[in-house]
Amino acid sequence: MMKAIIFLGPPGAGKGTHAKEISSILNIPHISTGDIFREAIKNQTELGMRVKEFLNSGKLVPDELVWEVVKDRLNAEDCKNGFILDGFPRTILQAELLDKYLSERNADLKVIYLEASDDLVIKRLSSRRVCKNCGAIYNIISMPPKKEGICDICGGELYQRSDDYPDVIKKRLETYYKETQPLIDYYKNRGVMYTISAEKDREEVLQGILKVVKDGN
Ligand SMILES: [Zn+2]
Repeated sequence: MMKAIIFLGPPGAGKGTHAKEISSILNIPHISTGDIFREAIKNQTELGMRVKEFLNSGKLVPDELVWEVVKDRLNAEDCKNGFILDGFPRTILQAELLDKYLSERNADLKVIYLEASDDLVIKRLSSRRVCKNCGAIYNIISMPPKKEGICDICGGELYQRSDDYPDVIKKRLETYYKETQPLIDYYKNRGVMYTISAEKDREEVLQGILKVVKDGN
């Protein structure tokens, strides 16, 4: 049976990290919408060109077009046993389009909601440091460099991106919840949402997700 897994959760909750881990354990692709958009534009596909027009004119890419790009990717051979979506859906209409696709394929959908308090998100993201030279990412709490402020790999200087300043993170969170709350309600009503606390350590969170996604079939 086709297994469809969607990750929801605020920035800093660990969606990307856990999606990658689950992808390699279940051997199904991890599809990040940002990546497939960049890919479609880079390869100058017909859809990619249409997306680019909207982006260039500063307009929002319409839901139907976003869905066309995602559907194209989901139709690829490597998705036949399932896939993990990260960054999609973003709107109720997108969720409905995906639902229709999944029900036509009799797919098993599970939505993993990684729940994290604002305090945790702010603590995690504001402790992130990036190398000015090679772009390597550190975390001064969970993954500090050997020498404070210096990149282990290239010796470059580490800095904090302005996106990761606590007051900017608070604004990002507000936007996130405004955008995501309708989706959380939608999937709760569909009875396919599983809330997992992202406050525990990484291994415990992973085991929690695995229990949900391996359950049933
Ligand atoms: Zn570096």
